[in-house]
Amino acid sequence: MGLRKILTDKDPALHKVCKPVEKFDWKLRKLLDDMRETLEKANGVGLAAPQVGILRRVVIVDTGEEILELVNPVMVATDGEQTGAEGCLSVPGRYGLVKRPNYAKVRAQDREGNWFEAEGEALIARCFCHELDHLEGIVYTQVMERFLTEEELEAEEE
Ligand code: ZN
Repeated sequence: MGLRKILTDKDPALHKVCKPVEKFDWKLRKLLDDMRETLEKANGVGLAAPQVGILRRVVIVDTGEEILELVNPVMVATDGEQTGAEGCLSVPGRYGLVKRPNYAKVRAQDREGNWFEAEGEALIARCFCHELDHLEGIVYTQVMERFLTEEELEAEEE
């Protein structure tokens, strides 16, 4: 039983800079387990700890092949550019047009504290940028060009 409530962008927790994780203890493991369960239930691509009210630098990303657990993640490389639809579990029902790099590489710690690197293109790169922004208190609506219209959304779904 680890489902956590996902806060909306009206909550002040989504607009604060998160603190680094210092202790790799049972509380971190529980948070990561709960975040995985919450992301799966919400059918999302990524989730950041502040979205469940925890102001720590913790993010998970579903790459389609695995769930990456990124603790204290840092962006180490980006390349290219993409502009596309972006959504957020904290902004339900809406999507915006956001410009992001097309490639991104992050360095992060796993739940034991070991450093590793992860990279991705297209949706994964977009997700890395989006989730790392959350740790700075930034929601995509603050960096988007505009919200997508209903018509544009329908066209995306087809
Ligand atoms: Zn988000």
